[in-house]
Order: sequence, then structure tokens, then C-alpha cells
Amino acid sequence: MNSTGRIALVTGANKGIGYEIARQLAGSGVSVLLGARDAGRGQAAADDLAGQGLDVAFIRIDVCDAGSIAAAAAEIDARRGRLDILVNNAGIADYTDGAPGKASLDAVRSELETNFIGALAVTQAMLPLLRKAKAGRIVNMTSSLGSLTLNGDPSWPFYGVRLIGYNASKAALNMLTVQLNADLSDTGITAVSACPGLVATDLSGHRGDRTPSEAAAFPVRMALLQGHDLKGICQSEQGAVPW
Ligand code: NAP
Repeated sequence: MNSTGRIALVTGANKGIGYEIARQLAGSGVSVLLGARDAGRGQAAADDLAGQGLDVAFIRIDVCDAGSIAAAAAEIDARRGRLDILVNNAGIADYTDGAPGKASLDAVRSELETNFIGALAVTQAMLPLLRKAKAGRIVNMTSSLGSLTLNGDPSWPFYGVRLIGYNASKAALNMLTVQLNADLSDTGITAVSACPGLVATDLSGHRGDRTPSEAAAFPVRMALLQGHDLKGICQSEQGAVPW
């Protein structure tokens, strides 16, 4: 089943887009570690995919818990010895977020903590394992809501979606993509920000006309692309998204 020989970790993969990324990566022959913060939900999702004949195993990882991140890195090191693909997918949106003048500061803090600091912490912990891969790939699941350019463009259809915490967390995640590529320029590791579009999941309140399965196809392509210069870009299916 693991025909590509590659090993991937997908965070927040017990449901939504992450689950579909795990399913499609495994369907492409990648050995997938399905990350989830809740052991029951994560194991059930991994069992479901393994039951379909896919090479998927559950690994517990709460991106806001340094202990669980360190334990996951140690487990991957002990059992697999390296990591080829890291998909920083775990994310939250808090409906008490809002425009700068009225957003709940607790909501903003927790969105930054999960969507940005969580991804940074997981990346730091997994970098030694990615360095052991022939060509490591980090896919950061961002959103066009994180584009500084589009947030300032009154003609953009989502101009009115002013969620200071969520949008800032994705802008910060994009900064991680840019700085990682600068930092890792002498390695075979590349990072890319991938925008899935507006997808009907719990996070979006099931708004959006894209299914998780449709949305996962693009980040999976970004994860598997080889021999392309992806450095420092934010991509959607429609092409580059301005920073
Ligand atoms: P979702 O269905 O709500 O799934 C989010 C996943 O993240 C769940 O598995 C959740 O686990 C997990 N998660 C949350 N906090 C976590 C933590 N501290 N540690 C580990 N896992 C955690 O949302 P989704 O729409 O698939 O979102 C996936 C990613 O795509 C997010 O980064 C999101 O910002 C991004 N995105 C989504 C859209 C959209 O329209 N849906 C658009 C652009 C970008 P639990 O089940 O335990 O809560």
C-alpha cells in the first residue's frame, strides 16, 4: 500500500478537510499518520480509513499541548525514523471573533494559539524528522482571509469578513511559510501555503459549496508535487493568492 515510500503527518485529521487529506494522501500510496487531539475521535477516523485498505495510523497530537507534540515527534522518530510530509491542518474559528473594534480577545488569543503558534510548534518539533527525508514538504493550510492584500481590497467578495483573530492567524501562518523557506533554503525541505476555498465543514458552519473531498485535492497535490519550485508561495486551485 505504501507505494511511494513517503510518510506524512496530518494534524487535525479526525474530520473535515484534514480527514480527506489523510484519505487522499493514503490513496496515493503515502503512509499517513492521522493526527488528532482526541484519542477516541482520532482512532475511530484512522480505523475507518485503515478499514478501507489504506495505510493510516492514528497519532495523538494536540497542537496546543507541547507535551503531546514532543511525544508525537518521539513516537514518529522511534517507529518511522523520518517524516516526508507535514500538513499543518489543525485549525479553529471562534464565532466570538469579529471586527477589530468588538472581537473577543479570548477568541483572538485561542485562534492565534491554535492556527499559528500550534503550527509553528509542530513544525519545530518535526523539523529534525523532515531533515531526514530526501525532500521534505510542509503544507500550511491557510485561507485567502489571511491575505493582507485582499483584506484591503473593497472589490474582494470577502472584504466584509472581518475576523481579526482568524484572519491574522492565517496571515501569521503565511509568514511562517515565507520564513521557513528562507531558513531552509540550504535543505531539500520546502513549505507552501495552500488555500482550500470556502468548504462546508464544522469550522465554516457548513457554509460554502465545496466538499472536504474537493477541497483536499489541492493541498494533497501540493504535498506530493516533486521537482517544482514551491518556495514562498500561497496557492489555491485558481493560482497564486497575494500575501
Ligand atoms: P474542521 O472540520 O472544524 O476540522 C478542524 C480540525 O482541527 C478538527 O480535526 C479539530 O479537532 C482539529 N483541531 C482543532 N484544534 C486542535 C488542536 N488544538 N490540536 C489538534 N487538532 C485540533 O475544519 P476544516 O474546515 O476542515 O479546517 C481545516 C483547516 O482548513 C483549518 O486550518 C482551517 O482554518 C482551514 N480552512 C478551512 C476553510 C473552510 O472553509 N472550511 C477555508 C480555509 C481554510 P477536534 O475534532 O478535536 O475539534
